[in-house]
Amino acid sequence: MSDLVRSLIRDVPDFPKPGIVFKDITPVLSHPKALREVVDGMAERYRGRGVDKVVAIESRGFLFGAPLAYALGAGLTIVRKPGKLPWKCVREEYALEYGKDSLEMHVDAVAPGNKVLVIDDLLATGGTAEAVGRLVARQGATVAEYAFVVELSFLSGRKRLGESSVYSLIQY
Ligand code: AMP
Repeated sequence: MSDLVRSLIRDVPDFPKPGIVFKDITPVLSHPKALREVVDGMAERYRGRGVDKVVAIESRGFLFGAPLAYALGAGLTIVRKPGKLPWKCVREEYALEYGKDSLEMHVDAVAPGNKVLVIDDLLATGGTAEAVGRLVARQGATVAEYAFVVELSFLSGRKRLGESSVYSLIQY
């Protein structure tokens, strides 16, 4: 991936709380060439691989998932925090540093036998993406790969999700 995209990712110390260095991808979104590089880069990797659905994780995953699904000619499935989706949902809990959180997906958003690509802006510990993997599996679908714009390698999320099933454009 080009130095352009990397150079645009902004470190914001102590956001949203003290001790966290937040990787802000909004400058990538607002840069015409960089945005295109990210979406085209992902699309190149997955074109022709039979992806039925791109499963995008709230909320920054939506921003990359929607154009990627369009580029691949795949459907878009959104995974959201509890209470946001209007139809019947499946729900999975996952652990946070303190406490836990949940994610939901509509029961009919992926079909048994579907091949899906899970996408989010950033991989940290992998707990979020792992929960999405469980949602997908519960519907009888298969995760072809987990894709991220940014991977924080030192947090070992890749190990948690399975070394060979993770793809990221930029690693720290
Ligand atoms: P995790 O479940 O630990 O892999 O966390 C991944 C989720 O949290 C993704 O939806 C990210 O957008 C968000 N996230 C975690 N750490 C950061 C960070 N340092 N900068 C930006 N987003 C983060």
